[in-house]
Amino acid sequence: MTKPRVVIIGGGFAGLTAARGLRKADVDVTLIDRTNHHLFQPLLYQVATAVLAPSDITSPIRWLLRKNTNTTVLMAEVDGIDPAKQLVHADKGALSVPYDYLIIASGARHAYFGHDEWEPMAPGLKSLEDALKVRHRFLIAFEEAEKAEPEDRESWLRFVIVGGGPTGVELAGILPDIAHHSMLDDFRNFDPRDTKIVLLEGGSRLLTAFEPDLAERALKDLKGLGVEVHLNAAVTRIEKDAVYVGEQRIPTRTVLWAAGNQASPLARALAAPLDRAGRVLVAPDLSVPGHPTIFVAGDLAAIKRDDGGEVPAVAPAANQMGKLAAKNVRRILAEQPTLKFKYRDKGNLATIGRYRAIAEIGPVKLRGQIAWWFWLFIHLMYLATFRNRIIVLIEWGYSYLTYQRGSRLLTEREGDGVSGAGENKMGSIG
Ligand SMILES: Cc1cc2nc3c(=O)[nH]c(=O)nc-3n(C[C@H](O)[C@H](O)[C@H](O)COP(=O)(O)OP(=O)(O)OC[C@H]3O[C@@H](n4cnc5c(N)ncnc54)[C@H](O)[C@@H]3O)c2cc1C
Repeated sequence: MTKPRVVIIGGGFAGLTAARGLRKADVDVTLIDRTNHHLFQPLLYQVATAVLAPSDITSPIRWLLRKNTNTTVLMAEVDGIDPAKQLVHADKGALSVPYDYLIIASGARHAYFGHDEWEPMAPGLKSLEDALKVRHRFLIAFEEAEKAEPEDRESWLRFVIVGGGPTGVELAGILPDIAHHSMLDDFRNFDPRDTKIVLLEGGSRLLTAFEPDLAERALKDLKGLGVEVHLNAAVTRIEKDAVYVGEQRIPTRTVLWAAGNQASPLARALAAPLDRAGRVLVAPDLSVPGHPTIFVAGDLAAIKRDDGGEVPAVAPAANQMGKLAAKNVRRILAEQPTLKFKYRDKGNLATIGRYRAIAEIGPVKLRGQIAWWFWLFIHLMYLATFRNRIIVLIEWGYSYLTYQRGSRLLTEREGDGVSGAGENKMGSIG
């Protein structure tokens, strides 16, 4: 008798937790991810700004699941799901994996609101490759500014961030620190303190997931750091050397995208109901309506909280969903009814540069340094491995004490094609 086969797509927060939840189950698990590593996305912006190296916030999935003796890890790009034949297709037809139970946890990408042509000029931040592209552009801008004629220099030294959610705010908050301190003595033809950071938010306030008073505090902190924040400023055009808000042209060679989410396209293969962001409108037990043996977890799932609000696309929600999806597979196998998903809100956190943050944990609101220490503690705790925690702690300690960035190398590897530096063929590594 073969054991029931469970296939998990995605080794992010939801997929990894699901695999761990099946560790002792009498099933054969196959986890498929397009990369060989689990990525701690909440610290991606620190890789993008050269504070941390890529390996500091990643861990091999194979190693993380080494104690799951019932689990095979495959590195492959899933490109189709056939619910009728119970098959997952990957690597352009080269691989087909049969399943009895399927857990889809392939996450989300950034969305350009119908302007996909902006992506090469305004890279977003979801994967490690994205972070390296952003870091490359960020470091190249300073290199180009050193060579530029004075009239061109200003646009190399203006960084525009689109989107006033946590990622945009965290990026905007860290850049002045780098320009005003870390790079201070490094250039001869310009003063890095002339760097301008512009944050554009289409809505009327920043950080909509936070209470208005905390969002207001974040705005004040950003302004205190010298960041130019424009609210109600929806981007209408992006060019190689400028971004437009209506008719207003903002000259810049570096636009970073931190607005909008679009669910992984795999959701469409299921012919299931989707919301506007392409997420699967799952049943209360996280199964796909009409497919009781297929579950969706993490950023790809759209589900309501008890109070009627949306379950947010955050790591704790992904972990909780991954855990329940695994539990519901076990319950079906034990011929028990499946359980409904109940979200436990662990709060919201965002940093604003060095030593400042805002935090909302139930009724408790923290701001300033105490919130920053809390942020630091939580992020260290949730990194995947002990090695990650130690290395990140050392890197942070070093960078916060000396203002130095640990990961500022540009190498002669193939460029990423989005440097904006024209002929520049440099790539970047950490
Ligand atoms: C920049 C940034 C900052 C964030 N900050 C915070 C924060 O501070 N706190 C917080 O709680 N949350 C934060 N989040 C959100 C949080 O990271 C996500 O909610 C969480 O990662 C979702 O987990 P997931 O498992 O659904 O998806 P992911 O973690 O995105 O994992 C999806 C996995 O699926 C794989 N995959 C995708 N498509 C395929 C395919 N076709 N074939 C094979 N594999 C595939 C990917 O390689 C990836 O490993 C942040 C996110 C970003 C991008």
